[in-house]
Amino acid sequence: MLLLDEKKLLVEYGKKLIEKNLTKGTSGNLSIFNREKKLFAITPSGIDYFKTELEDIVVMDLNGNVVEGNKKPSSEHNLHRIFYANRDDIDAIVHAHTVYSTVLSCMRMSLPAVHYMIASAGKDIRCAEYATFGTEELAENAFNAMADRKAVLLANHGVLTGGRNISEAFSVLEDVEYVSELYIKAKIIGDPIIIDDREMNVITEKFKSYGQK
Ligand SMILES: [Zn+2]
Repeated sequence: MLLLDEKKLLVEYGKKLIEKNLTKGTSGNLSIFNREKKLFAITPSGIDYFKTELEDIVVMDLNGNVVEGNKKPSSEHNLHRIFYANRDDIDAIVHAHTVYSTVLSCMRMSLPAVHYMIASAGKDIRCAEYATFGTEELAENAFNAMADRKAVLLANHGVLTGGRNISEAFSVLEDVEYVSELYIKAKIIGDPIIIDDREMNVITEKFKSYGQK
C-alpha cells in the first residue's frame, strides 16, 4: 500500500475535524504530500470520517491522476494539488466548513490581525474570489489569495489551511477559527483594534522560534 503513514494520519485527523467541531458531516477534506515520491494522499469524496478506512484514502499524482485507491477522491482535489505543485512550504492541507471563518467568507471579508495567534497563518487572512466548489477556478483563486500565507478564506464556502505537516495545517486551522470567532464577537460590541504591521512583524519573528521546534 502506497503512503501508508500518510493514510493513517488522514484517518486520524479526519475524525479530529468532527470532534473539534471544525466541519459538519462529510464536508471538508484533508491531504498530505509525499515530496520524495511526488504523490499525495487525500480523503475520499463523501465518506463519513468515522467510517473512513485506510484503503478508502486515494493516492494521486501532481497531474491529477489517481495512482491508488478505488474510491472517488475528494471533489476538491485540485484545491490541494495546486499547492503541492507550486509551493515548497506546504506538504499538508486541511479544508473545512468551519463556522466563524466561514461567516467571514460569506461577508467576503478578510480576517485582520485582531489577535497575535493569527501569525501562525500570516499577518492577515484574505478571502479568495468566489468560484463554484470543486472547480479549477476555485483552486486558482484560493492559491492566489493564499500567497505568503498559510490560510485562505473561500468565499461563501469555507476555509483552507496548509503547513509543513498535517499537525501544523490542523493547528493553523484551529488558530484561524479562533481568531475569526474573536473578530466577529468583538465586532458585536464595537470596532476591534487591529494590531499594526510593525507589531505584526515583531510577532512573526517571534513565532519563528516559538514552541518546541
Ligand atoms: Zn468545501
